Amino acid sequence: MAEGVARYLCSVAGGRKLKSVKIGLGELQSIDEEVFRFALAELLRVEGCELSEDSVVFVRKPAAFQCRKCGYSWTLNEVGLNDEEREAIHFIPEVVHAYVSCPACGSRDFDVVGGRGVEVVEVVVE
Ligand SMILES: [Zn+2]
Repeated sequence: MAEGVARYLCSVAGGRKLKSVKIGLGELQSIDEEVFRFALAELLRVEGCELSEDSVVFVRKPAAFQCRKCGYSWTLNEVGLNDEEREAIHFIPEVVHAYVSCPACGSRDFDVVGGRGVEVVEVVVE
């Protein structure tokens, strides 16, 4: 996942130095920020891009769901999940359908509309 981000950042930088980057990490994705930061720095070096130290900022993207049956939207915090269930979801986001159902109508037919994957929120080049 860091690989795609590194490649994207390098294409944006276009030979210039990256001043700061803001990266959104989905709540449903189990990503260790320090591990990701390290991997990204390594990959950027391999790709030949320069990034100022300590200039990677992470923001957490909350998980959000929308019911296909009644249209209700909700977040993961609204659902009372135990640690074990949260852990399972972090490992395999697809299992969220096994643990979560619409708080309004109880349907398990819903879309995950936020909190997945990794996205570059902001890039500043020097
Ligand atoms: Zn519903």
